[in-house]
Amino acid sequence: MKEFSNETRAKNLQAMQNEELDLLVIGGGITGSGITLDAQSRGIQTGLVEMRDFASGTSSRSTKLVHGGLRYLAQFALKEVHEVGSERAIVYNNAPQITTPLKMMLPFYAGGTYGPFTTSVGLDVYDRLAQVKKSERKIMLEPNETIDREPYVKAEGLLGSGVYVEYRTDDARLTLEVAKKASELGALIANYTKVTGLLYDENHKVCGVKFVDVQSGETGEIHAKKVVNSCGPWVDEIRDMDGSNKGKHLHLTKGVHLVIDNAKFPISNSLFFDTPFHDGRMMFAIPREGKTYIGTTDTTWEEDPKEPNITVADVTYILAAANQMFELPQKLTPDDVESGWSGVRPLIQEEGKSPSEISRKDEIFQSDTGLLSIAGGKLTGYRKMAEKIVDRVGEQLAAETDYTFEGQQTEHLLLSGGDVGGDEGWSSYFYKMVHEGIVNYDLEREDAEKLVQRYGSNVADIYELLPDGEEKDGLPRVDWAMLNYGLKAEMVEHPIDYLLRRSSQMLFNINHMNEVKDAVIDYMADYYNWDEATKKSMTDEVNEKLALTDLHEIKDAYAAHEV
Ligand SMILES: Cc1cc2nc3c(=O)[nH]c(=O)nc-3n(C[C@H](O)[C@H](O)[C@H](O)COP(=O)(O)OP(=O)(O)OC[C@H]3O[C@@H](n4cnc5c(N)ncnc54)[C@H](O)[C@@H]3O)c2cc1C
Repeated sequence: MKEFSNETRAKNLQAMQNEELDLLVIGGGITGSGITLDAQSRGIQTGLVEMRDFASGTSSRSTKLVHGGLRYLAQFALKEVHEVGSERAIVYNNAPQITTPLKMMLPFYAGGTYGPFTTSVGLDVYDRLAQVKKSERKIMLEPNETIDREPYVKAEGLLGSGVYVEYRTDDARLTLEVAKKASELGALIANYTKVTGLLYDENHKVCGVKFVDVQSGETGEIHAKKVVNSCGPWVDEIRDMDGSNKGKHLHLTKGVHLVIDNAKFPISNSLFFDTPFHDGRMMFAIPREGKTYIGTTDTTWEEDPKEPNITVADVTYILAAANQMFELPQKLTPDDVESGWSGVRPLIQEEGKSPSEISRKDEIFQSDTGLLSIAGGKLTGYRKMAEKIVDRVGEQLAAETDYTFEGQQTEHLLLSGGDVGGDEGWSSYFYKMVHEGIVNYDLEREDAEKLVQRYGSNVADIYELLPDGEEKDGLPRVDWAMLNYGLKAEMVEHPIDYLLRRSSQMLFNINHMNEVKDAVIDYMADYYNWDEATKKSMTDEVNEKLALTDLHEIKDAYAAHEV
């Protein structure tokens, strides 16, 4: 097992203070993790600090798709479609365990955004630009064929549908597998480490950061030749620290997703559809792990990006869209919503320009002090974003030090857990390891499948951790093994890291999570030897997040007819 634990964190923090790094990256979302992996794999000694947990910002709150960029096609951004389409194939090949191809249905209706002709031509162009394999290319369906394939789609006004390929991912785990791989290559990485200020040399060039270790309260300094700010929605906070938040700045918009049991929302296809409100928005409804999730909204967010809320208006909007788009056995009500999540998009707006000119593309800013900041973009394009900014860092290091510039090394670099024989080999690897889990470790098929899907080639480490008997320390044996793997190999520091981001239970298996959460907290309290106050604050953190996630206040408001 490759260690990436609390001890690794402590050693890394010490090492980062002892030596000058080539590069320090601030922010452990997908952007910062991608940059760290890219830089470290080019021989640039890199550190990464994240103020909460990896992917605790936007990178665990997306629609969880590795997009082919169909939306860009509507804006005739052909280069972008080609780029993200190619990226998608690379991500899939390097980490097939967290990127699952799925057929996406795009139904079209009289008076809707897309018609049969535009959809057919658009999807053809998309397939070619995004280099979609022949076997996965689009098909067009007549209305009756559409209903045959997905009986819950509204029949009235239906003109047909296009079916094309998209890739579903687990955004938090994708981020983590990138960070774990960077750590394997020697990057020094620490979560729960918040940058509180920047350090400058005598020429007023940025040369490091001041930080606080959020776990212990201790403070320190890290020196680095180059500093990259990849703080997503917080990019401007770091630019403020640097006095360089001028010109273009962030415009945050909030997006909400809701999770409903598949028994209540029993679609079997993923769908991408027009909202019925003529507001130009499209929504996704995606089956996953016995649930269906649906979203998203897009509203300006001007408050703290840490925990964007879910409001009655968000829930009403999404459920109304679902109820109008689908003919379900029963209309969906707020009581059917099991959980949900809300995230903010760090979009870029130019001062003096209107919000309609807000760009979703990524951009790099370099301040007079040398601070490099990167914002915007997508989960899907993380590797390309990393390549662009590390090219800059590499060129500067080559000009200023004895570093010899090297181009990107990540195109064929397998992510942690991705050593499964590429996209071609994944299916046989999957069945082999599921079989091994059932035969050698006495697992139920369903559990073995979930474990192989979640951990890919790291599943052997989980199998080794499985205790005998049904339970250990009050935890079902599978949870016990996953939690212990999280503690030893995935830098789980807080119970919420495990419950929400490592295992996704808080989103997609909330009933099970409610059953195990106290045992998880007790186990971690023993493991880390927490005092009562620490244990209480960890418990409060889980319960506060649960209150946001399970939407009980919103359900109460509906029940009291306040809305
Ligand atoms: C609703 C929604 C749906 C989306 N759907 C998709 C999709 O399906 N596919 C897709 O490709 N993209 C999607 N995106 C876009 C994608 O999620 C984002 O582009 C991406 O996650 C941004 O990652 P990031 O690393 O830049 O930011 P973040 O993930 O927010 O990471 C920034 C990190 O910086 C840390 N940080 C902040 N300040 C400090 C500090 N002082 N010290 C240390 N650390 C700090 C934060 O804690 C945070 O973890 C979606 C976005 C939203 C909001």
